[in-house]
Amino acid sequence: MPELNELSQGDFFAPPDPIVTCKTLDELHGLIRDCAKCEELAEYRTQAVPGVGPADARVVFIGEAPGRWEDKKGEPFVGDAGAYLTELLEKIGLKRSEVFISNIIKCRPPDNRSPKTPEMDNCGPYLGRQLELIKPDIVVLLGRVALERFFPREKITDAAAQPRRKLIGGREVIFLPLLHPAFGIRRQDLKPEIERQFWKIRELLDEQEGC
Ligand code: URA
Repeated sequence: MPELNELSQGDFFAPPDPIVTCKTLDELHGLIRDCAKCEELAEYRTQAVPGVGPADARVVFIGEAPGRWEDKKGEPFVGDAGAYLTELLEKIGLKRSEVFISNIIKCRPPDNRSPKTPEMDNCGPYLGRQLELIKPDIVVLLGRVALERFFPREKITDAAAQPRRKLIGGREVIFLPLLHPAFGIRRQDLKPEIERQFWKIRELLDEQEGC
């Protein structure tokens, strides 16, 4: 009989995925900053923009992608849409510093084009792990791109302010699609509707506290 050899890990088992095995948000954000899965984005960006906020935030906001100012500063939503987002948060009694803010993709696309599907696929595991680690009660999907990534057949105009539930890491989480704050910058007439929709976040938080 041939000699008995140890079964080697590399032959039969996939190596552990560093994203899935990340234990902290800081560790995960380190991986995101070093990521070069999307060649074009890695070359074009000043820096990756993982997200900002407490590791145990109750509410997570997800936009589309970093823009010019986010790419420079390394923080999501710091341009005009970001200033408006901060204003909306304050109106409903939330401080920007108490929520977690990120995007579907973590690197600025050239000329602020929309993220491509392979880019969203590459970045998806990072966002998934962020949500598993933060364990939020509510995930707010800002705009069409964020909505379609989680609920592919839905339209933002119909889905806005309509909460729905999904399991993340075995936990039930409320997803709330809302119009993107950038809409309110381009169309001042939409601001009252955007603000009205934002109050749904407060309503959901109050309902949770009453549980
Ligand atoms: N800034 C971001 O970080 N994301 C957006 O979707 C828009 C502006």
